[in-house]
Amino acid sequence: MIIHWIINPGLAVNELFLGLNTPKVTLVERAGEKPFYQRSFIPCPHCGEMHSGLKYSGRNKTILWNWFGFYCDNCGGIIPVQRNLITLIILTITFPVWGWFRKSLKRKWLEKQPERYKNLNLEVVEIPKKKWTKNWLKSGLFFALLMFVSMQIVFPLIERKEITQRSILIGIPIWLICGLCYGLTVSWWMNKRGLATSKNNMPT
Ligand SMILES: [Zn+2]
Repeated sequence: MIIHWIINPGLAVNELFLGLNTPKVTLVERAGEKPFYQRSFIPCPHCGEMHSGLKYSGRNKTILWNWFGFYCDNCGGIIPVQRNLITLIILTITFPVWGWFRKSLKRKWLEKQPERYKNLNLEVVEIPKKKWTKNWLKSGLFFALLMFVSMQIVFPLIERKEITQRSILIGIPIWLICGLCYGLTVSWWMNKRGLATSKNNMPT
């Protein structure tokens, strides 16, 4: 997942415009009946607090606008995020433009964070199967649209390449299939149960 995050150029669009990020370090409980999304934790490198993966979620409206990282509501620090390769290149090239405002932007962003984490819903609820199907379809289609827009429109515009009817028509089915595969994989992964016995699978 981390490698995908680094090399997929389409994700740079998400990262730069929406502040959709992934933490550098995620800890996962290996054993247990719980699905993956309930077994993952995001550690804060400043205070050591283990944040539930549910804290940074669509449900809590905390998954977007995390340009500077994930806010730790325990110590007020910022948990570092994994940058996408294209994001890094774009940020480096445009540094002379935004570098001047970096500190004030970061300060303003940080001031707004405590408010966002006041009314968190960390309750674990079993999501019915029907909803999962709807969810993976939705995330698959969203991923397809994002990839289509960035790969067939945004990047050709940046590279000053022609956008033809042909490239659009070829792009639609390709990204639709990729998107649906992506949605299915992520949904399967998020629901994956942990290893059956904890005794034999303890890290050595
Ligand atoms: Zn912290």
